[in-house]
Amino acid sequence: MSYQVLARKYRPQKFSEVIGQEHVTRTLQNAIAQERIAHGYIFSGHRGIGKTTVARILAMAVNCRAAEKPSVEPCGVCDSCTEIRAGNSVDVIEIDAATNRGIDEIRELREAARYRPARDRFKIYILDEAHQITDAAFNALLKTLEEPPSHIIFMMATTQPEDIPQTIRSRCQHFSYRAMKFDDIMGQLREIVAKENIPADDDALALLAEAGDGSMRDALSILDQAIASTADHLTADSVRSLIGSAPAAALETVMHAVAESASEKILALVDELIGEGHSPTHFARQLVRFLRNATVAKIAGMDSALLQISSDERARVGRIAELFTEEDLTRHLQIMLRTHGELGYRQEQRFHLELGLLKMAHAQRLLPIEQLLSEAAMPISAPVRTSSGQAPRPVAASPAFGSRSPSSSSSSSEARRTETPASERSNSVSPFAADSARKGAPKTEASGGTSAYAGEGARATHTSGGNVVIMGSAAPAVEELSPTPDRLPVARGTTAEVNADSLRDAVLGALSDRQMLISLLESAEWSLAGNALTAKVASSSTMIEMSFTAEARRIASAAASGLAGRPIKLQVESGGTAQASAAPSRASTLSGSARSRAAADPIVQRMKEKFGAEIRTVIDYREKG
Ligand SMILES: [Zn+2]
Repeated sequence: MSYQVLARKYRPQKFSEVIGQEHVTRTLQNAIAQERIAHGYIFSGHRGIGKTTVARILAMAVNCRAAEKPSVEPCGVCDSCTEIRAGNSVDVIEIDAATNRGIDEIRELREAARYRPARDRFKIYILDEAHQITDAAFNALLKTLEEPPSHIIFMMATTQPEDIPQTIRSRCQHFSYRAMKFDDIMGQLREIVAKENIPADDDALALLAEAGDGSMRDALSILDQAIASTADHLTADSVRSLIGSAPAAALETVMHAVAESASEKILALVDELIGEGHSPTHFARQLVRFLRNATVAKIAGMDSALLQISSDERARVGRIAELFTEEDLTRHLQIMLRTHGELGYRQEQRFHLELGLLKMAHAQRLLPIEQLLSEAAMPISAPVRTSSGQAPRPVAASPAFGSRSPSSSSSSSEARRTETPASERSNSVSPFAADSARKGAPKTEASGGTSAYAGEGARATHTSGGNVVIMGSAAPAVEELSPTPDRLPVARGTTAEVNADSLRDAVLGALSDRQMLISLLESAEWSLAGNALTAKVASSSTMIEMSFTAEARRIASAAASGLAGRPIKLQVESGGTAQASAAPSRASTLSGSARSRAAADPIVQRMKEKFGAEIRTVIDYREKG
């Protein structure tokens, strides 16, 4: 007896044997029971999940000769049933639309459809890969579907139902098939190996089910190969070597090395894998899935139904999820996805895999922007992520500002994994206000203000030193954001010294791109009373209303509040006398051009050193006044 592949041998022959598509089979059976059989059906879904199988069962059911009328379950033994199952029924025609997609074939089909079935109740056309049919051919088919002879049923199976014209779709009943659940596939595989008398380990079957990726047919065809290649007992190792997978432990080891930023370990691992004959592409793909699952486990929990994997794999994924934050995991997933995509068309795949893995290790050293911001806003001895994982260096603390987050007081590894809760940061300026302050003053960074900001030195200690690594796409974002963290920590440290003058500088700095307002405010009399900062200007109130808009008010208040470390409200009033002397005197204290002053600013220098930034534009509001 010739060998029959498992997928065919164990193909379901009854609706009740179809697994995981109850929503389809139940509806079809109800339709048969009520004798409401449609003339057109579309079965759509992932490959290998039983679309054609159900189409055949439906064909058997409507043509079964066991009863006078279509039966809800085919008998499986009558002539019709056996012929349809064997694929040689005259009245059930299976067409592979991938190869017979043109107008000629469909015309032929249409002609044949006019004749009554030779023996059975219905003449049934099963069109596989129906989305491949050309538009012209669909048009030819449409004629038949518009006025179908009563004996005709079309069943179209497709993976891409959206490629079937709307005119066709609207004349058919559409059933979407679901991807098969991991447990369903596992159950099937267990049953089949039992029937075949093949001893198999559960983790071997789990690997097959995972490799099937929601497709029963794929899982079964790998099982076919596995059986052929194994002498007796089916083990996880034999399956793994068959599908070229690296051992699951290797994935875990790599991610541990990434967590430790142990670059050398990573390279050694890649060497080992390549040495054992694993393909870089396949390994990258495995790692992508692994990271995806770890991310899901992190977000939705280890027991989430979103994870269609074995319990061993769940445990592995859960352990890795523990090691990283959600942010880390998504970043790693992104890096690996890109690496996997690149491996497809690159030479030197090994180097690209290594590069991708090293990028992850580097990214692990990346101080998340959010953390940077929150630490900057709270000058405390929060541990900074270090490149080699050794004990982090404490950052200078400011006595003026307490409120340590609970995370920073715990052990270093824990702290760096724990996000600071939003509430901990709430006492700084609202993100919205900070954001508008930043947008309102994109160039203040370069324009300096060295004399005005007393906390310069303290600020430098925050981010200096080699332990902040910023790379890849994160760099521009950090550059752009930097004025905010810079401004805030200064503010925190200097609460006591805040006065009308320093607030004035902060406000002018934040509003530096609003020249009319700047010239107005520069000649104002500034005073601070409690939380009210008042600028008395010589201009009329109309003039004030025109230039001191709500947006400007928000920016100014945010800048002042940021500096003071408490809410400061800026009021601009008319009735003051012009303070003409203020601007020149301040300008005279600074020497050289604005550009050279900007270049001398320590922040600018650090930006240049760290990111290779260059000074593009310098706007000096002092000279404009
Ligand atoms: Zn039958």
